[in-house]
Amino acid sequence: MRKFDTQVEYIKYKVLKEVATHAWHHQLYDHLLDIPKTINPTRKPISRCCVYKEQAILAERVKLAVGGSRSKHIVEVIDIACDECPVGGYEVTNGCRGCLAHKCQSVCPKNAISFDSHNRAMIDKEKCIECGLCAKVCPYSAIKNNQRPCVAACKVDAIRMDENKVAVIDHERCISCGACVVQCPFGAMVDKSYIIDVIDYIQKKTVQSKVVAIIAPSIASQYHQYMPENIIGALIKLGFDEVVEAAMGADIVSERETEELIDKGFLTSSCCPAFVSLIKKHYPDQVQHISHNLSPMAVVGQLIKKSNPYNKCVFIGPCIAKKGEAKLPNVSPYIDAVLTFEELDALFDSQHIDISACESIAINDASYYGRIFARSGGLIESIQHQVNKKNIEGFKFEPFSCNGIDECKKALIKIKNHVNIGHFIEGMSCVGGCIGGPGSISHSLKDKMKVDTFGKSSKQS
Ligand code: SF4
Ligand code: SF4
Repeated sequence: MRKFDTQVEYIKYKVLKEVATHAWHHQLYDHLLDIPKTINPTRKPISRCCVYKEQAILAERVKLAVGGSRSKHIVEVIDIACDECPVGGYEVTNGCRGCLAHKCQSVCPKNAISFDSHNRAMIDKEKCIECGLCAKVCPYSAIKNNQRPCVAACKVDAIRMDENKVAVIDHERCISCGACVVQCPFGAMVDKSYIIDVIDYIQKKTVQSKVVAIIAPSIASQYHQYMPENIIGALIKLGFDEVVEAAMGADIVSERETEELIDKGFLTSSCCPAFVSLIKKHYPDQVQHISHNLSPMAVVGQLIKKSNPYNKCVFIGPCIAKKGEAKLPNVSPYIDAVLTFEELDALFDSQHIDISACESIAINDASYYGRIFARSGGLIESIQHQVNKKNIEGFKFEPFSCNGIDECKKALIKIKNHVNIGHFIEGMSCVGGCIGGPGSISHSLKDKMKVDTFGKSSKQS
């Protein structure tokens, strides 16, 4: 079993593994209600105030592990799990010295700051608009912003609190980046899982309808003790008929995007669904710049379905947003389900698959450039390679890489304001690129190096 960074990750893994174990034995719905008690069979709560609340939260986790509600939203809030964080906002700490200058009061545009009998600052929450100016000017840094972790993580202001102080996602704003899922310390924000669909495909496969795993190149960074070839052996042991690299689609996409860039003169990348969603929902006046190409995942799915429309395509990667992308009308014909690496790990363990004992199966679907799409800057290197190959007279490639949502937002604002930052924008919602994806099981400084090594091991040019 892997080492878990947090108890939240461990509980999520245990729920997924239990659900998968029962699904393999065709007994899921007989045991569904027992899973919370299996996970904590004692009468003592592990992390909540009472065992009843803990069991109720686990029951909600089970619901999301079996696919959750029918809505198209990928990230949902378990409302009973979300009640422990203090309500956010600017607060005066004991660091306030009751100074004479009262800069905080002078700068506040809403007159929300007054002083008590000890000359200590107080913030009137009714008046405060959370602009943060007081915190910026206090010479003792005595004013702190106690934001909830989910709110702080969400860079598109998609989370608010309801009248019971429970987090609510505004799905009109949410881009399914998964940042809140990673940051919520109570595991109240959860992505829906499609593991039981994948188990169903594997169990119902026939000679005419194969189940194909499309693996993201970031798989090279996930299990540091194993080579990608070992993981491919494990996927075949799990029941997949074939394993294909999504990086093969990345090679195709970089060629097509290069042509599109030369044709249009300005382009924003389309391989990160959260970045595409950021533009569509928050910068709609930039939509015309989004590349019309499908993502590498969808391109590979399209090729697989073309060879046999009855095949089932399962994308496996670090990405929660891909679960949403797979439901889009132009992608759903090609991708049947998306698994994260977290979910894959639980699936392996549900079948007691020891990766070290699995056959090592070589794979060679993609070039170095396709494989390095997994990390920030990889797409740009790949397009540069295509531009060099084409050697078009007078064409100068001017790329700009955005690593994480904050950088993506800054770049989109600059484009809107006609600031010249280049004519090809690589947008990756996760810091570091897909290797930093929310469904990853490795968060190591070595991840980029592992992906680059995997790229260099390619035998394709
Ligand atoms: S998934 Fe991303 S965009 Fe959606 S609520 Fe969470 S942090 Fe915000
Ligand atoms: S950077 Fe990669 S993992 Fe992160 S949201 Fe985009 S496609 Fe998904």
